[in-house]
This record gives sequence, structure tokens and C-alpha cells, in this order.
Amino acid sequence: MLEMFKKSNGNGNGEVAKELRWMKDQPKTTYFGYEITPIKTGLPKTVDSLCPDCKKIIPAVLYEEDGKVWMTKECPEHGEIQDLFFSDVDMYYKAERMWYGDQRGLENPKVKSATVCPEHCGLCNMHTSVSSLPIIDLTNRCNLTCPVCFANANAAGYLYEPTYDEVVRMLETLLTQKPVASDRVQFSGGEPTVHPNFLKIVKTAHEMGFEYIQVNTNGIKSADLEFAQACKEAGVESFYLQFDGIDDAIFKKTRGEPLLEYKFKTIENARKVGLSVILVDTVINGLNNHHVGRVLQLAIDNYDVVKGVAYQPVSLTGRITKKQRMAMRYTLGDLAHDVEKQTGYVNAKEDWFPMACSVPLGRLVGALKGKPSLTVSCHPHCSMGTYLFLERGTGRVVPVSRFVDMEGLLNEVNDISNQIKPGSSFSLLSQAKAFLRLKRYFKQENAPNGLTFEGFLKTLDGYENKTRRRVNLGKLDGYPSVFAAGMHFMDNYNYSIERVRRCVIHYVTPNGFIYPFCTYNTGMVFRERTESRYRLAAEQVIEKMKAENFPKELKQLAKKMKINVEEVRAEAESGGCCGGEVHCEH
Ligand code: SF4
Ligand code: SF4
Repeated sequence: MLEMFKKSNGNGNGEVAKELRWMKDQPKTTYFGYEITPIKTGLPKTVDSLCPDCKKIIPAVLYEEDGKVWMTKECPEHGEIQDLFFSDVDMYYKAERMWYGDQRGLENPKVKSATVCPEHCGLCNMHTSVSSLPIIDLTNRCNLTCPVCFANANAAGYLYEPTYDEVVRMLETLLTQKPVASDRVQFSGGEPTVHPNFLKIVKTAHEMGFEYIQVNTNGIKSADLEFAQACKEAGVESFYLQFDGIDDAIFKKTRGEPLLEYKFKTIENARKVGLSVILVDTVINGLNNHHVGRVLQLAIDNYDVVKGVAYQPVSLTGRITKKQRMAMRYTLGDLAHDVEKQTGYVNAKEDWFPMACSVPLGRLVGALKGKPSLTVSCHPHCSMGTYLFLERGTGRVVPVSRFVDMEGLLNEVNDISNQIKPGSSFSLLSQAKAFLRLKRYFKQENAPNGLTFEGFLKTLDGYENKTRRRVNLGKLDGYPSVFAAGMHFMDNYNYSIERVRRCVIHYVTPNGFIYPFCTYNTGMVFRERTESRYRLAAEQVIEKMKAENFPKELKQLAKKMKINVEEVRAEAESGGCCGGEVHCEH
């Protein structure tokens, strides 16, 4: 172990380091003036991590062995811990190579003088990314009791459910983020659709100017057409639909019940009412990884409504033996190789890219607008994916990298955005020159039938530009396509503070704090602190039960809180403790 630390001298000792271009674009400080430590590249390297037992910050070494990347660390009190970090070292290096440097975080972070990450979280002066996908948990109630649930919904034994006014304040927190106001939100939970004011909240968010409203759902309520229609009318854009496989045996294991019928109905309803769907597949090695290809195929078969698949390799929380952990561990490398083996559509090493490689596109939009734009600048090892085009007429699946030199194109975009001087106008002539510079990376002869470079740009634009979204495909000239992307949420075994400081998936809380996903659900677990502070008292739960006529999931939760539900119901039915005939103080 000691030898390993001696060898891991950080930046620049891997072969890849020599060719890294991003260092010249790397900003020195956040907007709030905190010095940014750039990511370390090459292997072995040392990062700050956590002890899974006591959560103390301890150093960890990432190193290569047998073509895989491993993490090893030692807590003085709790001993040595080793885990698989990334199962394909070539993909790991590729992600580093396609990194374009950090962004500069927020101009108005809630925590202004943090020095210790992740202890001083919220977002702070040290954080380098803005909120790409902010999440608001509307409730921890759920109409399922899934064995796999990072929100610990229902099992918690208390009710966390911000009021309508609190949710409005949380939405305002997002809109006031500087320099990039966040006008996208995902409502989550628990199951957000069981919140009694769910539709009212969506409508309010829409009226406040949120451009993109996504609902993280198990699909039970949206299997009802009327409810799906009401979602559409309120302003929902997309269902982020749990989808762990194409087999009820899998759902019984991951969610406790057969659910496939609800999932299919939700997709059908989304098609009928004009919403889009992203399938969300929580992947556990040995349990449902044999279905990752079939889930992607389902997305391809329904590309008119399904935008793609978001795979989430399981984050392992709670006490677990090393043997169990290693059996369940699934990394982005495993995912890419399973998709390759199960579909034959993609080559793991060639066709998968880090999500953060889209940074140059955000920079270009920002340069053209003359102000910072939404840029997905998460750590390159947090997320990887691929983008598939579906050939018109033949249905042939063509990964984008077969007809676009992605690294060349993105490097060029980055260079162009750097050349645009702040405040200067980007003339038509410059635009035409830029277009030609980029077109060189598009190999028309390998592109699917009928897809031109212009069509390619329009299809990409459809992911950002509301009028070009896929649900409107019939009316527009975007080309059929789906994405497959994985985000490996961390757990305390593979935690890397270098990653969490760049996190782009953020939770907003009622007191105006914003926490990265991997500090909210793991690490310091700010979820526990937030929910403990805002949990409702037993009297409030009783009032809600009465007002909502005793819904099932609230009754279950009340029982866990040791509330005598039958007594409360009897009292409610009799009109009060004295029959409602006289005014009393009880
Ligand atoms: S995760 Fe980000 S916001 Fe939280 S303490 Fe670290 S740098 Fe600050
Ligand atoms: S949620 Fe976790 S895995 Fe995803 S970007 Fe944030 S730190 Fe990385």
C-alpha cells in the first residue's frame, strides 16, 4: 500500500497526459475566487476519498491492474478497503483525453467560505459546475417499497414533504443561480406523482419559466391516460421512467412487484399525449445486467417517444461484505461492454464518450450569446454514453462515431468558442467559416441514408431547443436517434472528492441549499440532515391523512410512525372526538 502511494505522483505520469489539450483552457479560480485544483490524470494517482465506516476524508490510490482501474485506501481506524473503480482502463483514459477543463461554478454560492469538501457543502465557493439537472424531492411517500431505493423512501418512518410555498422557493433558488439561471428541473421523491399538489406544482414551475420539467416516476400513476394528459397540460416535458429490464421477474427483485404493464402503458400514454420518455435502468451485476441491451432495443423500437436510456450502475450503500460488493459491482466499462455484447450495435472502446465532452458545445453557445451558458462539466469519469442514429428506411443502427470524428469535431468547436472574443458579434461570414471547419469531421459516405451535416446539427439541436424536440419529429427534420448513457453514482467504497466537486446533478432543499447528488445520497448524506430538519410532526401527518381521505402510502407511513390509523379514521368519521356537536379543544 505504501509503495502504491509513493508511485502515485498524480498529474502527468500516464502516457495520455502528454496529449491532453484541456490544460490551456483550465480556469485558475472559481467565480468566487477559490483556486481550482485541476483533475489529476494518468495512473496511478492519489485522490481524496472517504472511509466507508467513519466517513473521515482519507487518501486513496487509483491504479491499473489487469486492464481495469482499482481504488485502494486505508483508514487508520477501520483498515484497508479495495474496490473496482472502472473496469476498462482504455475507456478510463479516453474519458480523460476528452475532458475540456473545468467551468467556474456559481457567482452566488450559498456557502461562501468553504474549505473542506464535501463537509462544507451546499453549493459552495469551491464547486466548479452549475446545476445541469436540478432535482426537487416533492415527498418521500411512495406507492412502492423497492428493495433498491437511494432515497430510502417509505422505509424512513417519517414524512418529508415540502409545502407548496417551500417548493416555490426552491424553484426560485434555481432561477436566481448566477451566472447561469437553471430553468430545468426534475421532480423526484419518493414517488412525486403521489404528492397531493403534484400537478399544481408542475403548473407553477411551468408558469415561472421552467423550460424543461421532468418527472422521475415508477410509471404507476402515468399508466392512467387521464393522468398522463393532465401532466402534459400542466407542463411536464418528460417522464424519467424507472425501467430495470424487460421481465417482471427483474421488477419483483428490484421493485418488489411486477410492473412491466405500467411501464408499457406509460410509454403508450406519453406517445398519445405528446410527452417524451427516458428509460432509467438501475443496473446490478448478476441481477439485471443481462437486460441492458434489451432495454436499449426497446428505446430504439420506440424512438418516436423514447429519447434514450439512462443507466445507473448501482450505488452500494449500507453494510455489505466485500464478497457481496464485488459480486454486485458494475461500472461504466461493464455497461459499455454488455451493451456491445448484447446488441452488437456499438463498440465499447470506440463508440462511448464521456458526457463531459459536450463542454465545448456549451462554451460555443455561451460565446455566441456573450454570456455563460449551461455546460455539463461533470468529471469525465462520472458518466459515459453513446448516441445512435436509426437509418430511415432500413432501421440500421449507426453510432455517431462511425460518421463523425467526434474528438476532432469537439476540439474544433472548443477552438472556435475560444476564438470568439467576449462582446464581439459572430458575423455571418465567421459562422459560414466555422460551419466549413466543422463539416470536415463529418464523413458523409458513412452517414445513414439521407442524413446531411445540417440534419446532424439539427438533430443535436433537438436536445436543447424546445421547438425541435423529438416529440415534434413528424413536423421537423431531425433524424431518428436515441442515446444510451450511464452515470455511475458513487458510494462510500469508490468515493472520489475530485468527482463530487464537479458534480452537475443537484438537489435543492427548502432552506435554499443545493447539494450534489453524491453528497446528498452518499458521503456526508445531506439527505438525512435535510429530511430530519423538515420532517413533519405526527399531528401534521394526521391532518394530511384526513384531508386526503387516507391514501394507502400515507397510512403505511403513519403506521411506521406508530400512529393509530384506525383510531384517527374513526375519529374523522365521527366528525371529531365528541361527534362534532360541540366545539372542544381536543
Ligand atoms: S461538493 Fe461542491 S459544493 Fe459540496 S463542498 Fe465540495 S466543492 Fe463545495
Ligand atoms: S451525481 Fe455523482 S456521478 Fe453524477 S456527476 Fe455528480 S458526482 Fe458525478
